[in-house]
Amino acid sequence: MSIDLFEIRSRMPSYNPNSNVNDRARWLPFSNGTYSASSALASLRTPHPFVPWFKLVWFPQNIPRMSFILWVAIRGRLPTRNRIHKYDPMAVTTCVLCNTYPESHAHLFF
Ligand SMILES: [Zn+2]
Repeated sequence: MSIDLFEIRSRMPSYNPNSNVNDRARWLPFSNGTYSASSALASLRTPHPFVPWFKLVWFPQNIPRMSFILWVAIRGRLPTRNRIHKYDPMAVTTCVLCNTYPESHAHLFF
């Protein structure tokens, strides 16, 4: 037994390995110890309550690309020019369509 294993053993007095039983890997974030992609995702994400507009964006016949863009737009996170200007002070902020007003979510959609 190496010094490291001896130290581990001394810190875990209740640990009594059984050499007659094969070792097996356990996925600790899930209660039954088996790994699945959904349990990995669940262990990584922070759960949030569903928003009321959830069904407006995500529905069975949706086009995922369009749903994603709509979801980002509703969140106000599209890379509009006024948002880009926060990261790049030299960026132009006027609307690409009318070239008059600052390009923002409110200007583009409302
Ligand atoms: Zn415009």
